[in-house]
Amino acid sequence: MDGSGSGWARSWHSHASGCRVRVMRLPALPDFEPGWVWLVGAGPGAPGLLALLALKALAEADAVVYDALVDERSLALARPGAILEFAGKRGGKPSPRQPDISRRLIRHARDGRRVLRLKGGDPFVFGRGGEEALALVAAGVPFRVVPGLTAGIGGLAYAGIPATHRDVNEAVTFITGHNVSGEVPDGLDWPALARGAPVLVFYMALKHLPQIRDRLIAAGRPAGDAAAVVSNAATERQLTLVTTLGRLVEDAEAARAEPPAIVVVGPAVRMAAGLDWLGAMAGRRLDPDPLMLKTRREAG
Ligand code: SAH
Repeated sequence: MDGSGSGWARSWHSHASGCRVRVMRLPALPDFEPGWVWLVGAGPGAPGLLALLALKALAEADAVVYDALVDERSLALARPGAILEFAGKRGGKPSPRQPDISRRLIRHARDGRRVLRLKGGDPFVFGRGGEEALALVAAGVPFRVVPGLTAGIGGLAYAGIPATHRDVNEAVTFITGHNVSGEVPDGLDWPALARGAPVLVFYMALKHLPQIRDRLIAAGRPAGDAAAVVSNAATERQLTLVTTLGRLVEDAEAARAEPPAIVVVGPAVRMAAGLDWLGAMAGRRLDPDPLMLKTRREAG
């Protein structure tokens, strides 16, 4: 640290969590200018999954407006003295209205602050990032988007489930479990999804899990298809449940799976038997041939 240049020179921190972060001077990273809003994805949980730009934004922001899904360990990386404002749902109370959040961002920016809008996962994946950014456009407030690791990819990876694996799927589909009015989305072509989409990754699906299962099976998806629930992925409370579509609802209840959770249906789930690296750290033996391809080749 030579003390010159941008905010990097000020980015030594000691944190309550005990970790010490040294952000290196990387001239390729853009400056966080006062009066700007950075709309940043925090990833699904573990602070180690933050992008470098997200870490820089935390180290430099004057105001951080964050959602319920943002891990508090990531928040602990904010610059000491930064204004921290919660903008999510808490204790069953409804979340602040979207226009109110946008107004807050605009006010902070007009007051000359570096404003970090921190959202779980990726801001543009089922995260209303587009709505907030458009409000900034309308107000003439300059902004930057810092993509984050979405739960439907990163959360699955923490369960040893690859979003794609060439032996099993050539496409992956992200679906929300409920629409703007809180119902199972009706505008979707369920038969096409059930029969044509090899791997289905559902966000916000726990509430309507029975309807989702019923629709998929009614539309032709085999009940024996592999399925998984990954709850609180990449946090200390992660729960991974591997089952079948037919048993999904009962098993999720028995395992007490809680939101936030990703539900995935399709053969990629079977890869967890070989790729559950987190389970392996707790003693699980991994199977190098989870799809039994080698075994079958040798037998045939
Ligand atoms: N923008 C976020 C999604 C927000 S919608 C993203 O890109 O990941 C909220 C939903 O995201 C939750 O209902 C859940 O389905 C999923 N989700 C977010 N964080 C998660 C986590 N740590 N573990 C499992 N699911 C998560």
